[in-house]
Amino acid sequence: MKYQNNSVICLFLCACLAQSAHSTEELNVYSARKEAYIKPLLDQFAEANKVTVNLVTSKADALIQRLKSEAENTPADVLITVDAGRLHRAKQAQLLQAVGRARFAQSAPAQYMDPEGYWFGLSLRARPLVYHPQRVKPQQLSSYQALANQAWSKRICIRSSNNIYNQSLVAAMIAHHGIDNTQQWANRLVKNLARNPQGGDRDQIKAVVAGQCDVAVVNTYYLAKMMAGSAEEKAVADQVRVFWANQDTHGTHVNVSGIAVTKYASNPALAIKLIEFLYTDQAQSWYGDVNMEYPVRSGIVTHPTLISWGEFKADPLALDQLGIFNSDAVKIMDIAGWK
Ligand code: FE
Repeated sequence: MKYQNNSVICLFLCACLAQSAHSTEELNVYSARKEAYIKPLLDQFAEANKVTVNLVTSKADALIQRLKSEAENTPADVLITVDAGRLHRAKQAQLLQAVGRARFAQSAPAQYMDPEGYWFGLSLRARPLVYHPQRVKPQQLSSYQALANQAWSKRICIRSSNNIYNQSLVAAMIAHHGIDNTQQWANRLVKNLARNPQGGDRDQIKAVVAGQCDVAVVNTYYLAKMMAGSAEEKAVADQVRVFWANQDTHGTHVNVSGIAVTKYASNPALAIKLIEFLYTDQAQSWYGDVNMEYPVRSGIVTHPTLISWGEFKADPLALDQLGIFNSDAVKIMDIAGWK
């Protein structure tokens, strides 16, 4: 009888423990974004759904490596990166699962999602030209291709070839113009560089203002953040202008920050719910207002700086192409001597 009582107590306690362990659903996020640019959204999601979201932040390549080594034991349900190239890399390494892109067909344009539903772009990262208005007239600018013309000899600044944003830009050029054309373009572009590639996108903007070069290729959110930054940074940023490249042809190069459900996610349903949340008007406008990126959903840009740069034609290229042509792009840059 005593034994039976103990069993009953144990059953009761065990049930309670199990109950409390499952009272909050958990979602584990591996993210290559700076924490400030994703955590507030994850917190909103956690609060609204009464779930716990655990965030691990690291470099994309390190997270991909971690997913590989953890394999089916990974705690990660989702992977977030700041470029399509690495999402494609994770897909190729069989670290992701397809979740059916039909359910997000209304959420964002098709080119910003993996064709097989392995990853989903959340925010656009436009990479136009910036120029110094005292040394360059906008009529002199047109396209990325034209930066390789003789007229721009020693006048261009761009960061190094190991940067994924440039690799993706070159991959897009390959997708549009082929390997041979892109190689010739890269060879001539490198000859037009005002200095050896160095620093990040903000440094290219500073170099334009310092007179080291006249035109640079940068992601707009860096410029927007400088404009919203210290008085010193704002004074620099205010001196350059944005030029939307390739408006007469295929449009300005864009990349995405994006999300994927991992192959061995413990809670894929909650991961999908997070993706749905990140496509809501509320989350999409946050990307513009706080991160100063462009929402992938059109018609909800509200940040005055973004509005001041006007609307632009974004390259409609399917962004899996950035991943597909990444290794060719790296090869081309290497051959061109793009440091
Ligand atoms: Fe960046």
